[in-house]
Amino acid sequence: MNSMRMIRISLSVLMLASIPSIALAQDSRDDRRYDAVTWMQASAEYQLLTKQIYRSATTQLLVALDDPNWSADEIQSVEGGFQEKPAAIILDVDETILDNSAYNARNIRDKKLFTIDSWNAWCEEGKALPIPGAVEFIHRAEALGVKVFFITDREDSVKQATIENLKKIGVQASEENVLTKNPQLEDKISRRAIVSQKHRVLLLVGDSMSDLCSGMGTREWEERRKIAAEKTEIFGSRWVMLPNPAYGGWQRALPSDNNGLRLD
Ligand SMILES: [Mg+2]
Repeated sequence: MNSMRMIRISLSVLMLASIPSIALAQDSRDDRRYDAVTWMQASAEYQLLTKQIYRSATTQLLVALDDPNWSADEIQSVEGGFQEKPAAIILDVDETILDNSAYNARNIRDKKLFTIDSWNAWCEEGKALPIPGAVEFIHRAEALGVKVFFITDREDSVKQATIENLKKIGVQASEENVLTKNPQLEDKISRRAIVSQKHRVLLLVGDSMSDLCSGMGTREWEERRKIAAEKTEIFGSRWVMLPNPAYGGWQRALPSDNNGLRLD
């Protein structure tokens, strides 16, 4: 074998090694979730987009720190009295900090849907990778003296595993700053209130509108879009939204007449 051919083969092996291992059967590739998960795992566009969003969030964080009248929390903004409180940010966990696309890829391969049991088992594995840009953003916030809180709809039963997974990707996580879901604190609004009692909330970061604002329990897609339109100016400043085409509250609220697709 000549040296040029060896170099070409070596390069090919290197390129293949960098592509996530998602070689699935054709019927799995026909699964409607396949493109979304592939985009998140393998596309340069997704990586660039999340990094871009977190870089922009860092800029907004600096603006927020300098403005004592800035709060990202809806209730705190109305009630006031937060100016002297120490600064904090609130982030969602799944598809905001942790990349669970491998769980979704397994479901595609196994022709299964989300179940709470398989989800909790995945959480217990603690194998989720970081969303590109997230860890750097969190470190920057901490370096600026901003306290970081994680509010997640993961259940209390997987709280310790979630803390360990966050630590594994280089994030400071503990009983105190990870607020999981339980029957007493079911919705995110009540858990955000715990943080805002003692902190000025500079930014909210998430991949779902319920990570950022109230009223998202509705299944009416027009109502969700109306709320989004009313809040347009807050997105990208106080509220930071990450893309998630794989799953989310938007799926429960699609129009039923044509499966969500606009035809003209
Ligand atoms: Mg999420």
